[in-house]
Amino acid sequence: MIEKMSEHKPKKSVPAGEILRVYLPYVRRQWKWLLAIFLTGIFLQASNLAAPLFLRKFFNLLALETPTPTTIHALVMTLALVGLMWFISWLMQRLQDTANIFYVADVMHDLYNDSFGYLLGHSYSFFISNFAGTLTHRISRLVRSFEMISDTILTQFFPALLFVSGAIFVLYTRNHMLGSILAAWAILFIVCQVYIAKLRQASRTSRAEAETKVTGTIADAISNQPTVMQFAGVIHEQSILSDVVRFWHKATLRSWLIDGWTWGIIGLFVLCIQGGLLYGAIIYWERGLLTVGDFVLIQSYLLGTFNQLMGIGGQLRRFYDAFADAGEMVEILKTPHEIRDAQDAKPLAVEKANINFANVSFSFADDKSILSDFNLSIKGAEKVAFVGPSGAGKSTTTRLLLRMFDIKGGAIEIDGQNIAQVTQDSLREAISFVPQEPILFHRTLFENIRYGKRDATQAEVIEAAKKAHCHEFISKLKDGYETYVGERGIKLSGGERQRVAIARAILKNSPILVLDEATSSLDSESEALIQDALKNLMEGKTVIVIAHRLSTIMNMDRIIVIENGRVAAQGTHQELIEHKGLYHKLWSIQAGGFLQDDEMGPEVAEEEREA
Ligand code: ADP
Repeated sequence: MIEKMSEHKPKKSVPAGEILRVYLPYVRRQWKWLLAIFLTGIFLQASNLAAPLFLRKFFNLLALETPTPTTIHALVMTLALVGLMWFISWLMQRLQDTANIFYVADVMHDLYNDSFGYLLGHSYSFFISNFAGTLTHRISRLVRSFEMISDTILTQFFPALLFVSGAIFVLYTRNHMLGSILAAWAILFIVCQVYIAKLRQASRTSRAEAETKVTGTIADAISNQPTVMQFAGVIHEQSILSDVVRFWHKATLRSWLIDGWTWGIIGLFVLCIQGGLLYGAIIYWERGLLTVGDFVLIQSYLLGTFNQLMGIGGQLRRFYDAFADAGEMVEILKTPHEIRDAQDAKPLAVEKANINFANVSFSFADDKSILSDFNLSIKGAEKVAFVGPSGAGKSTTTRLLLRMFDIKGGAIEIDGQNIAQVTQDSLREAISFVPQEPILFHRTLFENIRYGKRDATQAEVIEAAKKAHCHEFISKLKDGYETYVGERGIKLSGGERQRVAIARAILKNSPILVLDEATSSLDSESEALIQDALKNLMEGKTVIVIAHRLSTIMNMDRIIVIENGRVAAQGTHQELIEHKGLYHKLWSIQAGGFLQDDEMGPEVAEEEREA
């Protein structure tokens, strides 16, 4: 169960380098802000390093001189210089923060846009095997991770590097030994950090995975809320979630405990070095090699160094988490789009809208053959109905025409052009697809209909709505066309949603129409309205209907009987009845003009008749 939660979870952690490579082009685009951050950073740390030097002078003056007007003047002047350094430091910090705000926000803006665009370019298969909830989560985590990673590098690592190397240099010039101790300690600290980081990455990755599973499980239960309610499944769902949360809890504890303790041990080292350096200073002071001012200098640099490093330590856990979080989306960004335009793809040019399936074979990833040697020609403006038992391959055939999957053999052509060689956008522009259970955007009815032709005028939208018999129910709503339809269109009835989808297709006005007829029983008024709407929609188009109703089939030019991924028979209703094959059987078990395509045994037929 847990394993199925997300097929695109990282099997092993995505290397940090790969994540940084994804961010790099966005960072380059903002090079001006980045340069400002670097320059202000250099001035900032230079003033932070200079202030203790003036303080050193200040304390040396205090220790050596007796209070005379000249000494007082020298002390005040030195203090003024210290104050000036503090002010420059304050100013640079403000400027750097401001540049950083612009830089981070601009990169995040571009990351949102691009990763959303790339994600939507993935194939239909990709989306049916990933939860919408977890995908949404991954985009925002990628973007927010950038903020964390960038802030840590630019406002923690970079200043620490400048300050610590500056402090080592200045101390070294004062006293080789003390400078060398600080340098050795800093190097040891960095080596330990790199090593520990590697150890910690695994626990962080499993925590990020566990979080994705938690979100996925919650999203799945919420989107199936009606089922949960009808099957009294709240406790069952809670137990599923509690399994996943237990896994998350374990992974989180492990990851946080490892982090907390490694950082704690580093803290102990910090105390040792502080004690050690000051002890060394006493010895040099005893020999007359260090002044009181030097103590102030050492203490200021030590405090500065530790503050910088401790600041990094506090942030490090979130910094590594950010890499683990970003890794999940980077994996998706690195996964090539499954269905891509051919290199020299041209736009599809539709004249008559003839469709030809030539020896098409197809199977899903599991390799079970779904279509084999499928042959079918449909003439321009011809209207055909696909009928056949459930699982025969009717929907798959229409999806192949839309190139939602790529075929394994043969060719699908529209007006002689192989659909694999034309641009996907132009192909899908040429086909209107009305699904069995249309899902609508949580936008207004107006926007939902206008999706068929995004530059349509209000008059065009209303005309389409009238033809699709939507206008009747829309005008009765308080907010009319401005009514929000609820997530996935939940606030409309099945019949109303289908009519909105038909209105959208009328507006799109593509030369080819694919219609997966709703099987759910609609009331007879809705049924009549939909049939009339469809008549308007089909006019002059090449039409494929996956038919479940006899009323539709009877109006078709030709009926294609599909069985086991092949065309088993075709002809008009009369011809097929006379032929006494599968169609005859289907016809004889139908009840009230409604084909039960998933229940076609003789016993069912008997029950249907009795009913
Ligand atoms: P029909 O529309 O005739 O009822 P379909 O074309 O939906 O049949 O399905 C044909 C076969 O393909 C079925 O066995 C179904 O289980 C399988 N199938 C459909 N979609 C997928 C998918 N995304 N992955 C794997 N198998 C699938």
